[in-house]
Amino acid sequence: MDWIYVPFPVKPENLKAAVEGLRALGVEGVNVTIPHKEAVLEYIDDIHGTAAMIGAVNTLKFDDGTVRGYNTDASGCLRALEEVTSVEGSSVLILGAGGAARACAFQLAERGASDITILNRTPEKARLLAEDMADKLGFEASYGGYELIPGSVKSADILIDTTPVGMYPHTDDRPLVGAELMHEGLVVHDLVYNPQRTVLLREAERASAIPVSGIRMLLYQGVEAFRIWTGRDPPLDVMEDALKRALKGD
Ligand code: NAP
Repeated sequence: MDWIYVPFPVKPENLKAAVEGLRALGVEGVNVTIPHKEAVLEYIDDIHGTAAMIGAVNTLKFDDGTVRGYNTDASGCLRALEEVTSVEGSSVLILGAGGAARACAFQLAERGASDITILNRTPEKARLLAEDMADKLGFEASYGGYELIPGSVKSADILIDTTPVGMYPHTDDRPLVGAELMHEGLVVHDLVYNPQRTVLLREAERASAIPVSGIRMLLYQGVEAFRIWTGRDPPLDVMEDALKRALKGD
C-alpha cells in the first residue's frame, strides 16, 4: 500500500491548527498521544461511543471534512484479554486510575464484566473514575487504595496493572502484586510493554497464572487504527514483527 505513517510533535498551543491543517491537507488519519488525547476532543465532529464516555481519543479519521475520534486503547485492551479469556461475566481488578485505566474500565464494563474494582495509589482518583462509570454507564464499580489488593486479587478472574511500575529502566521494581497473592488461572495483563516480560508477568508465571503482555494491547490498538483508516485488516504477523523489532531498537 502506498501509505506513510510519520510522527508530528505538536505543541499544546498548536493543537487546533494541527488538526485543521491535517484535515485541509487531506490526510486520512492520525494517532494522537500524550498530552493531547483529551484536549483534542474539542476539535472533533463525531466521537465514537466508548471514546465519548472515556473522554479521550487516540485515533482520528478525516472523513470528507468530518473529523471522527476513536479510542483504540480501549478496544486493544479488550482484544488482548479476549485472546486468552472471556470478559463477559468476569470479575476484573484494575490497578491505577489514569488514562489507560479509564479506557480499560469503560470498555470492560460495556463488554459485560460482572464486577470491576479500581484500586489506586491516590484512592480519590479511583473514586472519581468509579463515579463517572456510574453516571455514564450505570455500572457500579468498587474502588479504594492499594491496601485492598490482597483481598481483591483473591476474588478476581482478571487483573490489569495500568501503572508504570516495572517499566524500563525500572525493570526490577517491586511489583504491586506478588505470586503469593495470585492464583492459578488468574489472567494478569500488564499494560507496560517495555520490557515485554515485566516483573509482574514473571510473578504471574510463578503462580501458574496467565500472563498477557502490554505488547498485545499495543499491537491491537494499532491494528484497529489501521482498519479505521484504510478499511482493511492488516497482516497481524507482519505488524507484530515490526513492533517487536521497533521495541528492540532494530
Ligand atoms: P497515567 O494517566 O499517568 O496514570 C498512571 C497511573 O499509575 C495513576 O493511577 C498513578 O497513580 C499510578 N502510578 C504511577 N506511578 C505509580 C507507582 N510508582 N506505584 C503505584 N502506582 C503508580 O498513565 P496512563 O496513560 O494511564 O499509562 C499508564 C501505563 O500504561 C504506562 O506505563 C503506559 O505506557 C501504559 N500504556 C500501555 C498501553 C498499551 O498499548 N500497552 C496503552 C496505554 C498506556 P496516581 O493517581 O496516584 O498518580
